[in-house]
Amino acid sequence: NVCVVLFTSDLRLHDHPPLRAALRAADEIVPLFVRDPAVDRAGFAAPNRLAFLADCLADLDRGLSERGGRLVVRTGATAAEVRAVARQAGADEVHMAAGCSAFAHDREDRLRRALEPDGRRLQVHDAVITAVPPGGITPQGSDHFAVFTPYFRRWTAEPLRTPLAAPRAVRVPPAVRSEELPARASVASVSAGLPTGGERAGRKRLTAWLSRHADAYADRHDDLAGDATSRLSPYLHFGAVSATEAVHRARARSGAGAEAFVRQLCWRDFHHQVLAARPEAAREDYRTRHDRWRHGEEAEADLQAWREGRTGYPVVDAAMRQLAHEGWMHNRGRLLAASFLTKTLYIDWREGARHFLRLLVDGDIANNQLNWQWVAGTGTDTRPGRVLNPVLQARRYDPEGAYVHRWVPELAGVPAPAVHEPWKLTGPERAALDYPDPLVSLADGLTRFRHARGRD
Ligand code: FAD
Repeated sequence: NVCVVLFTSDLRLHDHPPLRAALRAADEIVPLFVRDPAVDRAGFAAPNRLAFLADCLADLDRGLSERGGRLVVRTGATAAEVRAVARQAGADEVHMAAGCSAFAHDREDRLRRALEPDGRRLQVHDAVITAVPPGGITPQGSDHFAVFTPYFRRWTAEPLRTPLAAPRAVRVPPAVRSEELPARASVASVSAGLPTGGERAGRKRLTAWLSRHADAYADRHDDLAGDATSRLSPYLHFGAVSATEAVHRARARSGAGAEAFVRQLCWRDFHHQVLAARPEAAREDYRTRHDRWRHGEEAEADLQAWREGRTGYPVVDAAMRQLAHEGWMHNRGRLLAASFLTKTLYIDWREGARHFLRLLVDGDIANNQLNWQWVAGTGTDTRPGRVLNPVLQARRYDPEGAYVHRWVPELAGVPAPAVHEPWKLTGPERAALDYPDPLVSLADGLTRFRHARGRD
């Protein structure tokens, strides 16, 4: 007998429960990835993610080939393609990971409806994309946790499944044809500094980072120029690295750095369980606010300057330019850029989230939209009124100005701390700088924010 394994956000062979279950149930499997145009239409298919996806699929195919199998790729509506492949292969069952978004839930429903008339079963596996499945732990009287700290406490006590080894051998029915795999080189407008995708690269990064850098993570993760974070987010987003395995391996190391890293992985699960319970939070405010964002020509010009890294606040501009160049941004940079957009420029978080999703290689509906909401004060932050001051934050997290110097070459000759407030320079020093004045003073931005919230 035959089973189909539908890969979605779980592009790996290690620690893959649907794959393990299919191999147990059948002699032959069809490892399938469907390129669904609905994913493109929903805005998930940005160039950086398509390029990284191409790497992930190529690596998955290589890993399967080494085990005697191969990856089957089809283009079309997921339900129709899976049904066609299942019919062709004579498969009894289709195995896949449970998703968290409205899109993923809808895809599961359609798939079930497409398979049932043929008498084929869809088996959806939990805890593949997150370590703890959404809804797996809940507070009394609610279907999800709205506050991180109690979630973290419960999540920490939750037993995780033991990570699974990669299969040794995979047999794929020869009659099932595949399209050609998408090639990274065929994707246009990819950020120059985009990393290589795939399980192999992801596992290598996890191992190297845990052994060499995890110990320093607790002290250094906020150091903007230090690059002391794992940069595993794109691998986790595509499931090239398993979150469950990452948690297990970090816990096995112990120490403050590994603990802090596990806490960040818990944030990932936290946002996924919020989105699973409130799928509309991808678009709508999680907590209602009655004040109005700025609109109109002036706001549009400010938004454009923010996108291009020309706000006049060096640390914000550095972060935005890192995003454009690498398709990735340091977490502290994301916090500062998002706080500046929503609480100083007073522009709708959805505009910022949309721009991030266009460029981020780890761009993720759960993590992106809900982090944006967290910063904007419409989400799960228990202190929605806090505003990050980009000058104080820059002095603290980029004390030497190295991050700004790296990404804003116009300011390369200005030493820290002056580099964080170039508008204070005078005379020829200021005149020599080809760098804009701030779009708005921080005091005016704060007044705007407080005034608007006063009407809340
Ligand atoms: P590390 O510090 O090494 O952390 C390890 C892992 O923990 C990360 O890879 C990530 O999977 C997870 N993680 C860390 N911080 C968070 C967090 N705040 N929320 C959820 N998971 C977290 N992360 C995404 O994966 N995709 C996004 O689209 C995304 N958009 C964001 C937008 C904004 C406005 C903000 C403030 C944060 C966003 N984050 C997003 C969270 C975080 O910034 C990134 O996960 C992190 O910077 C990735 O770098 P890293 O892998 O080196 O992280």
